[in-house]
Amino acid sequence: MPFDYDGQWQGADRVYCPAMSNASQILQSVFGYESFRPPQDDIIQMVIDGGDALVLMPTGGGKSLCYQIPALARPGCGVVISPLIALMQDQVSALRQLGVRASFLNSTLDPATARQVEDDLLSGTLDLLYIAPERLTQERCLTLLERAPISLFAVDEAHCVSQWGHDFRADYLQLSLLHQRFPHIPRIALTATADARTRTEIITRLDLGQAGKFIAGFDRPNIRYRIALKHNPKQQLLRFLKDEHAQDAGIVYCLSRKKTEEIAFWLQEQGFNALPYHAGLNAGTRADHQARFLREEGVIIVATIAFGMGIDKPDVRFVAHLDMPKTVESYYQETGRAGRDGEPADAWMIYGLQDVIKLRQMMASSDGSEEYKRAEQHRLNAMLGLCEITSCRRQSLLNYFGETLPAPCGNCDTCLEPVATWDGTEAARMALSAVYRTGQRFGVNHLIDVLRGAENDKIVQFNHQHLPTYGVGKDLDNNQWRSVFRQLVARGHLSVDLERFGALRLEEQCRPLLKGEQQIELRRDPKRKAARQQTRQPLPIDMDVALWELLRERRRELAEEQGVPPYVIFHDRTLQEMCASLPQNLAQFGRITGVGERKLDKYGDTFLQVINEHLVIS
Ligand code: ADP
Ligand code: ZN
Repeated sequence: MPFDYDGQWQGADRVYCPAMSNASQILQSVFGYESFRPPQDDIIQMVIDGGDALVLMPTGGGKSLCYQIPALARPGCGVVISPLIALMQDQVSALRQLGVRASFLNSTLDPATARQVEDDLLSGTLDLLYIAPERLTQERCLTLLERAPISLFAVDEAHCVSQWGHDFRADYLQLSLLHQRFPHIPRIALTATADARTRTEIITRLDLGQAGKFIAGFDRPNIRYRIALKHNPKQQLLRFLKDEHAQDAGIVYCLSRKKTEEIAFWLQEQGFNALPYHAGLNAGTRADHQARFLREEGVIIVATIAFGMGIDKPDVRFVAHLDMPKTVESYYQETGRAGRDGEPADAWMIYGLQDVIKLRQMMASSDGSEEYKRAEQHRLNAMLGLCEITSCRRQSLLNYFGETLPAPCGNCDTCLEPVATWDGTEAARMALSAVYRTGQRFGVNHLIDVLRGAENDKIVQFNHQHLPTYGVGKDLDNNQWRSVFRQLVARGHLSVDLERFGALRLEEQCRPLLKGEQQIELRRDPKRKAARQQTRQPLPIDMDVALWELLRERRRELAEEQGVPPYVIFHDRTLQEMCASLPQNLAQFGRITGVGERKLDKYGDTFLQVINEHLVIS
């Protein structure tokens, strides 16, 4: 993973460090993991040594360990500031499963419980404490912290301090006081937001000028990016789910509230465990649907963008977009919710010209300034570009965030099934000229009728049968012409007139094309295929599926008993390793990824029993 850092500390000088051997030991005994993912080790050492750090890592990169391990290695309690109150309970439950003494303080606690947590903090019997920012910045809480042994402050979702970003929290602005009130306690700020401007704002506002800066690569190699043309959205989604994700948890994003409900109910009818989620549902329903997504297996959430921030469910196997997001940033953030566990996952999207028209319309009717609208337009064009490119999607995505991937990735649709292109110069000229000759007042359907020489009332009404472009485009069928127009819009040669719904207008940059001074290569849209190439084997081919089901069943029972999500007991990956290695005793069981000492104690026997019983009868 490419990363860079600056600050006074130099990783290369490290020879022997007792702190780090301690950290590795914690990684293995508490978390059950073999080794650090760089740059986790460098970050952890820096914080253990008392330095500050700014960590930018993609979702799923492993940010949590960067503060959890130093909090365990240093004396005192690690204080984690997080805006995601709804998730604190789950985060704390997961840590307690590992034997870590964790608690949280937020407005959901009754006074007696809160007092107990405060007592634990003061008596030094806590390893980690999660606090909501609005609580932390109260004088009462600060005084409490001054009396307690504190090992570090971790500011999670640090981009919330940025007024420029979309998740701004006023309480975060006050977090600079941590540095003033607790100058000797190390601070670590973490975020998955890539953007350079946000990064600078975090550094200034949180006073992290002196901190080590760790910027991990933004690539998510386990996510397969696929973008296809929209022709029959429901059926396309159904095929995708049935062929590739029949049992999996995932998120389906739609643009409108109404559509999320419609699709969710339709998926239910098709036998899926699907639930809608949008800001118009009442708080109780929303919380319930979110909880079911986290706790049950194989739940599909059909949501607007209201869903997702801070959902750290590791085993989301797909994110599907039925409508195109407005920006590449949103696309990357939303798709990033897939595959946090590092296992293969799909980012699947379908889009069409209609999406572009809808988004342009939403933008035009928003109340932003002209400058803002222009910026939005620019971002939308970048998103369209990503949809239309014929080269590697991942290279293009990373490039957008200022990173270079030297070779095509081999794990996106354009790499796996290279897109054919054709010389669209002649067709583009015909299309542009049809727009021009008809007075830039008509939508795609009518323009195609003109080009293909259709005989209908509208043609006659406007006298279009006498135009020089009438009937010159009979060589291409309707779909091929739609594809030409879509690509001309996507590349900015045509724009969609919002005053007249859907009418196409020429843009300045189409001039050389229209005059025949420029060539254009167009994407040849693939013919619809009966079955798509399978993205992944859901499970290793030779795996004992019966045992897998038994282990999942046991996990489900344990999770239900304790009221925690199944992945808090063990990740799928850990269960798969059990199936593969068939441990016979606790020592063997303890070597499986994800099995630390505490979980070995708590669950070793019961899972060994499932495995043994299965081996005896099968
Ligand atoms: P982030 O907060 O950056 O999105 P998390 O901290 O939730 O990511 O980590 C993502 C997943 O990767 C978690 O399931 C975590 O347990 C796992 N993980 C993190 N570090 C390691 C490691 N060194 N070895 C194995 N798994 C790890
Ligand atoms: Zn690729």
